[in-house]
Amino acid sequence: MMNSIDLIISARQHLAEAMSLIDIAGTMKPKTGHWFDVGSLSCRCSNCGCKSTKEFNFCPHCGADMRGRDDEHSY
Ligand SMILES: [Zn+2]
Repeated sequence: MMNSIDLIISARQHLAEAMSLIDIAGTMKPKTGHWFDVGSLSCRCSNCGCKSTKEFNFCPHCGADMRGRDDEHSY
């Protein structure tokens, strides 16, 4: 049978696990970016700087969401 100290330690460990899961969820937030240096043949990703042949909705290299605009970064 667990005594109260063990229960407190166990609860704290669960809390720490829950907090780390929240941290992971926060870093999993999709990256956003936009295309710059847009020319007739290529454009570049503001997030990873790669060249792409087309303005995709998502960067094919880093996966950043390109549908938003830069003002998404302001908050
Ligand atoms: Zn990219």
